[in-house]
Amino acid sequence: MNRQKLASRHYCSLRDRPGQLSGLHTAGNGKPRPKTCTYCRGPLVTETGLWGVFEWRGDGRYRREAAEKTFTRELAAEDWRLDHTGAGTSLVVRWIPVDAWTEEATAAIAAAARAEHDFGGWLAMVLATVAAGLGSSDALIEGRPGSWEASLVDQLVKGTVGYGDESLAHYRPGAQ
Ligand SMILES: [Zn+2]
Repeated sequence: MNRQKLASRHYCSLRDRPGQLSGLHTAGNGKPRPKTCTYCRGPLVTETGLWGVFEWRGDGRYRREAAEKTFTRELAAEDWRLDHTGAGTSLVVRWIPVDAWTEEATAAIAAAARAEHDFGGWLAMVLATVAAGLGSSDALIEGRPGSWEASLVDQLVKGTVGYGDESLAHYRPGAQ
């Protein structure tokens, strides 16, 4: 599968506690070697994402789509930024959080969109299979059931497995 690799970085989960000097907490690129913060012993959090080079913005909103270029290494992004900074351009390097599953799903769905004749039917089948694994069609949207996206996902899944999950079991992975 042709997917872009992601960068990772880590930081102390307690670094924003009031009354502490946030610069002393453990933070860095890649996966952490120690398990806890060397300053406060707090648990470390590892994030995946990309380093993006952006035109500087006053509002601080740096969305992935707006990046001039993205990198998996901060130093490579910094080098590129220096090479492309000219008169009248103000480029900055910013971290873009990207979940690994978002990256993998995007690549998988792009492959399916090219190969599947009935993309809608395929997507409905995939969602039904996931719902079956989770135990109910409602489980897919329980985090935020009221949104319009949730209601469309719900229609797609329940149109496939039945409004009372009657056919859910057929979609359980490994079911005949
Ligand atoms: Zn800490």
